[in-house]
Amino acid sequence: MGNSGQEAFGMATIRATCVDCGDVELTTADVRVRVCVEDNAGSYHFRCPHCAMAVVKPAEPRIVDLLVASGVELSTWRLPAELFELGSVIASTTTISSTSTSCSRADDWFDAVVDMTIRN
Ligand SMILES: [Zn+2]
Repeated sequence: MGNSGQEAFGMATIRATCVDCGDVELTTADVRVRVCVEDNAGSYHFRCPHCAMAVVKPAEPRIVDLLVASGVELSTWRLPAELFELGSVIASTTTISSTSTSCSRADDWFDAVVDMTIRN
């Protein structure tokens, strides 16, 4: 115990926004964070507990840090290495453009507010 506030291994509550339902409360187990190793762009995704819609939001590095510190599972992804090793291949633009969309940044990254509320 103590007041260092670093014991984040309990269940933190994460408040996020569903476009249909507005603010929803999630646990760290409901949220996943993904970081693109190519440009460090992060995003997080969750399924709305009310309408079950999958929601994906971009996340600034500090938000990624905050979510991970809360216990959210982090995964990284990259464009397939084969794309670069087979340099002669006409860079499969379809694949690249579709993945880089989810890798893009946006301004509403602060939609996620992480409550470090520790529950038992
Ligand atoms: Zn919803």
